[in-house]
Amino acid sequence: MQFTDLGLAPEILRALEAQGYRHPTPIQAQAIPAVLSGRDVMACAQTGTGKTAGFTLPILQRLQTCKPASGASKPTTGRPPRVLILAPTRELAAQVEESVRTYGAHLQQRSLVIFGGVGMNPQIAALQRGVDILVATPGRLLDHARQGTVDLSRIEILVLDEADRMLDMGFIHDIRRVLALLPAKRQNLLYSATFSDDIRKLAHSFLHDPEYVESERRNSASELVQQTVYKVDRERKRDLLIELIRTHNWPQVLIFTRTKWG
Ligand code: AMP
Repeated sequence: MQFTDLGLAPEILRALEAQGYRHPTPIQAQAIPAVLSGRDVMACAQTGTGKTAGFTLPILQRLQTCKPASGASKPTTGRPPRVLILAPTRELAAQVEESVRTYGAHLQQRSLVIFGGVGMNPQIAALQRGVDILVATPGRLLDHARQGTVDLSRIEILVLDEADRMLDMGFIHDIRRVLALLPAKRQNLLYSATFSDDIRKLAHSFLHDPEYVESERRNSASELVQQTVYKVDRERKRDLLIELIRTHNWPQVLIFTRTKWG
């Protein structure tokens, strides 16, 4: 399959061509038609599968073909966002917005990323200038909502990206607060790398008859990586690690731990 088979606008195909992408990844091949159909989507997709373009491309297409409900007379300035993409971290939010810019380079849609830890004022000014696609972390978005500097009443499409990470980071209440500010009639897309009971519960609470798309076997491990498990008492973990590094003479090791302290 090629991107040209998916019914995307020539402007979008041009942007894809500039990236050198001709063939959709498996998740894109499933997600793009599902999103274009207007249905809610629940996608199981890890980073690196092309999931971002999987929702960005059809969203750009839908904005392009469906004019805002308020009619064509809406001025460019001050137009409220039609799409809201929530991401757990500022890095991810920035990355997603970068994708929107890349794939939407030849379209007129305006995008903006807002996250915490930086000043509100430039974000307020940008929101006032008008935005079509807003990418945000939940906390800062709620700050704007409380101050009345963002209008979420015209959102047509909501994306929760990396929903499992958002729940891990304790964003569930913020997500619920944001959901309460959106119009009831909208398209919802939920992306998650894992499907825990909590994710299922969240999904059932706001997705309507979703289409399920999956990038690969659920939570499958890469076949190129050899994995070995050592069962060891907590007190002896350090000794084991030292022993492994010594005996294998590993020059470079990446160690993941549960806590910073560890
Ligand atoms: P993601 O899973 O969304 O983080 O994307 C992983 C990487 O794959 C990004 O660097 C994308 O630019 C790239 N990518 C997305 N779609 C394609 C495609 N169809 N062909 C090749 N690379 C892609």
